[in-house]
Amino acid sequence: MRKPTAKRISGLVQSPIRAMTRACLRVNGINLGQGVCHMPAPDAVREGAIAAIREGKALYSKFEGIDELRTAIADRVRGYNRIPCDPDREVVVTVGSSGAFVSAVLALTDPGDEAVLFEPYYGYHYNTLLVAGVTPRFVTMTPPDWKLDARALAAAVNDKTRLLVVNTPANPSGKVFSRADLDAIAKLCRDRDLVAVTDEIYEYILFDGREHVSLATLPGMRERTVTISGLSKTFAITGWRIGYAIAAEEMARGIGLVSDLLNVCPPTPLQHGVAHAMRTLPDDYFTGLRHKYQAKRDRLCAALQDGGLSPFEPEGAYYVLADSSSLDAHDDQAAADKLLERTGVASVPGRAFYREAEGKRLVRFCFALEDPLLDEACVRLRALRR
Ligand code: GLN
Repeated sequence: MRKPTAKRISGLVQSPIRAMTRACLRVNGINLGQGVCHMPAPDAVREGAIAAIREGKALYSKFEGIDELRTAIADRVRGYNRIPCDPDREVVVTVGSSGAFVSAVLALTDPGDEAVLFEPYYGYHYNTLLVAGVTPRFVTMTPPDWKLDARALAAAVNDKTRLLVVNTPANPSGKVFSRADLDAIAKLCRDRDLVAVTDEIYEYILFDGREHVSLATLPGMRERTVTISGLSKTFAITGWRIGYAIAAEEMARGIGLVSDLLNVCPPTPLQHGVAHAMRTLPDDYFTGLRHKYQAKRDRLCAALQDGGLSPFEPEGAYYVLADSSSLDAHDDQAAADKLLERTGVASVPGRAFYREAEGKRLVRFCFALEDPLLDEACVRLRALRR
């Protein structure tokens, strides 16, 4: 029999993020690997969905999402992100931000096109490009400051480049792109006629007073930016899969058409739950996330430092990359395995976020856990030194 699977998935393997969750479950460990977000979801989001189920809101929605949710998203995007936004033409509710990303890539590129990706990257961005037949070109940023090299960025662009993929605050590095970084990206997009796809799912999780700047607010960028986000992290509902894309009308229409084809619509009662929470939660719910997560970051970074796993302190998002050299393992996977075996704490090997060698001494930890469990993980990590 000839090979039954398509070339487009040859080489595609289960993400190490997911593989480590399975390994963690086997040993009943503490999962600081996958960014599951083990935090309580606000009552408003749960009550809103329960009410919608009780009221029988069980049918397909418009493929771009229910009106109430698109309106709530547009209000937030105008207020927090400062992006002008028409809920009827420029918002597409999707099955998670990953659903928005896949839809955007399929709607905006052809096989053979190229895209610029910052490394370390989020593996789902990378693999989505590959499956779509889009060749990624990498701009590598190095710790501890993950500085963006504007010259390397310009050198990654050629006549085939269509997209530039930005993720701020970034998974896994925690880099928050500065206004200067975004200016360089915007200039390149304008000069070379590129579209930027920016994944801003961690937009409310910012540390040390940093501000979140949406690329679409820079001069000339609104019409050439797809802004992706979602409520997975903000409301701790990663399994609900409610995300969205904001884009100018023509791109939004294309993204909506693809999202319809892939998913028909995101789960309707869950859209109602999210709409209810977005309409009713006070602003300080959103701003409060900064302090909540900063305290967790500080706790975990201190424990990693004490345990001999030097952390690269993140500026935002809820992950930290750490140097695993002290574990004396031959590579990142062996380091993550050894760590799980010795401490029962799961992490993600650096290879999930790098093409090859660079990731080999790094492991990623997630700190989106409630304090008692995070504290237990910290005790175990500290004990590594002894
Ligand atoms: N975004 C999360 C992470 O980076 C979850 C990804 C996933 O489970 N596919 O861990």
